[in-house]
Amino acid sequence: MYMLKRVGKLKAAALTFLCLLSTSTLAKEGFELVGVSTQPGQKQAYMATEGDVSLPVTVINGAQPGPVLLLAAGTHGDEFPAIFALQKLAKELDAKTLKGTVVVLHLSNLDGFHGHRLALNPKDEKNLNREFPGDKNGTATEQIAELLTREFIAPADFFVDMHSGSSNQKLLDHVYSPFVGDKALDDLTFEFAKATGMQHIVMYGDRPRDPANSISFPNTAMTRGKPGLTTEIGHLAQRDEASIEFAYQVAKNSLYFLDMLPGDAIPHSQPVIYKDIEYAKSDFDGLFTPVVTIGDMVTKGTKIGLISDYFGNVVQTIKAPSDGIIMMINETPPIKKGKSPVAIGIAQ
Ligand SMILES: [Zn+2]
Repeated sequence: MYMLKRVGKLKAAALTFLCLLSTSTLAKEGFELVGVSTQPGQKQAYMATEGDVSLPVTVINGAQPGPVLLLAAGTHGDEFPAIFALQKLAKELDAKTLKGTVVVLHLSNLDGFHGHRLALNPKDEKNLNREFPGDKNGTATEQIAELLTREFIAPADFFVDMHSGSSNQKLLDHVYSPFVGDKALDDLTFEFAKATGMQHIVMYGDRPRDPANSISFPNTAMTRGKPGLTTEIGHLAQRDEASIEFAYQVAKNSLYFLDMLPGDAIPHSQPVIYKDIEYAKSDFDGLFTPVVTIGDMVTKGTKIGLISDYFGNVVQTIKAPSDGIIMMINETPPIKKGKSPVAIGIAQ
């Protein structure tokens, strides 16, 4: 009963927003994306190409009116579960019965993906998720960011950017719910985050609020008045079935929340909301060996792991900076001075 009440409230929040959409958004017409039009009731998978940028997309333009939902994977090159989850979802969705339009961006960073890179694009050594809103005349990554801002974020009403832990990171699955000081947008974004069904929800207000300097992909949505979530599902550059299935369910919950599919988003029965993430830093270049793992509860001062030099001598004990839960930890040895081998979630 409690669950049903919550679902009703969540859906009400989304529907209130949808009522505010302009009638032109609600009138079904061809959906234009990077020069290709997808008609109502039609699904198209293609390489969206402009200049030197080419991105694999599937547009599912539902026959019935509704919002535009952008789902993206592969912003970083070695984060795989969401890529498979969104392939499955894109194949499954039926444009004839869908309400609204789903844009699946299968891989935002093809060069990083093929280059087996953690976060950077080998063409310019830049992190796509730090280059928004981008520059059409800039470097390779800046050009991708500019195209994503203009062609993908601009027509979207809601956005989920789906990440994972890179090859060096173990992560507790979590969703970032940003806030930018606009109460209606922040509240709706938080309801959207809960509706993903993810248990660990990190409140995130640490980004620029200037649309001309939006920095990250989701923040580009937020600074333009659209809810933009980041999910982190799976880790260590794995493509395990459990993470793929969970990412698929999270994506599908976002469609339920927006009433694009019949059914209800089921929020987690015991959500944990985090007000902050804290990091402990290494004072040395060397090797990190953890003694805790993700999900462990720690108190301030708990031993997290050891930093040793290249000769095997322990040079630092990394300790928890606060009470909290281990959200991310470096599982592979290399560590540089000033980098954080651990992130600790501080619950509200
Ligand atoms: Zn990432």
